[in-house]
Amino acid sequence: MLSVTCPPDCDADLLADDLIALGGRGAEERDGVLTTYLPPPEDPHTFARRAADRLGARTGRDDLIVTWRWQAQEDWSELWKRGLDARRVSERIVVHPSWVEPEVREGDIVIRLDPGMAFGTAEHGTTRGCLRLLDSAVTSGDRVLDVGTGSGLLAVAAAALGAASVRAVDLDPFAVEAARENAATNGFTGRVAVERARVTAGWLAGAAPFDGVLANLETHLLLPLLGGLARVTRPGGWMILSGILADERWSILDRLRVNPEAALRLEAEDRDGAWWSGRFRRRAGDARTAGLPAPPGGGD
Ligand code: SAH
Repeated sequence: MLSVTCPPDCDADLLADDLIALGGRGAEERDGVLTTYLPPPEDPHTFARRAADRLGARTGRDDLIVTWRWQAQEDWSELWKRGLDARRVSERIVVHPSWVEPEVREGDIVIRLDPGMAFGTAEHGTTRGCLRLLDSAVTSGDRVLDVGTGSGLLAVAAAALGAASVRAVDLDPFAVEAARENAATNGFTGRVAVERARVTAGWLAGAAPFDGVLANLETHLLLPLLGGLARVTRPGGWMILSGILADERWSILDRLRVNPEAALRLEAEDRDGAWWSGRFRRRAGDARTAGLPAPPGGGD
């Protein structure tokens, strides 16, 4: 089991969410310590260190203490497996771990995904929000960019919904590995290209335009990238943003200057627990960048 000390001013619910997104089964808090159960990793110490890095990056804190402990006489691996089930996330999208045969209907988009050390299972509200907004966004043949692909679940879903190509990018080498594996398991090696890079405003400025853009990052990581993400979305294309707490969404909407005359409009939104996800549409036939947030160096 993996335990994380949760300082008093730390949001235990958000931390619990992150543990679950790393593949944990539930998370319980006792005396300021959050505990989750995971199948025993090969090297628990490296695993705990990586988990600490990841949780630190997601929460922006450097005072979290992460420890691994063996739990004797119980087969946590089996318990953990039993806790994860197939999930119907949208009308058509079903995500299931390899050991569960999902119930499928005709026309379903079925994705097989085993949780690993990369963020991105259908157990997290931001991932589910993106999947629901993606379901009605992808047009067959779309070229898609997935910024911060994590487990690759969104990239695989975009391909399964008909995208011709998905460029999936993550700065974390373990995510890149997991995303490649998940693309292969689902038969999309040819359409999902996974690469390791830190996406910055400069990186986006050098990228070719996409029909659709996905970015499930935290608000503070999204804000400096918004101008670049909007520009790399072709006129008429869609952009899905998540990782945003519901009461933080105004900072995103303000920065994007979403209004009826703007270059971007908010087309659909999703609420899942504390999380908000939004789908934006860039005005068709409008190559102007006026009305988009300022480019890097311009105060963005
Ligand atoms: N897309 C997945 C995972 C989201 S978690 C899902 O929706 O479930 C966010 C991921 O973004 C993490 O894997 C993290 O490593 C990655 N990340 C954060 N900032 C990044 C950046 N600037 N460039 C590339 N990847 C980034």
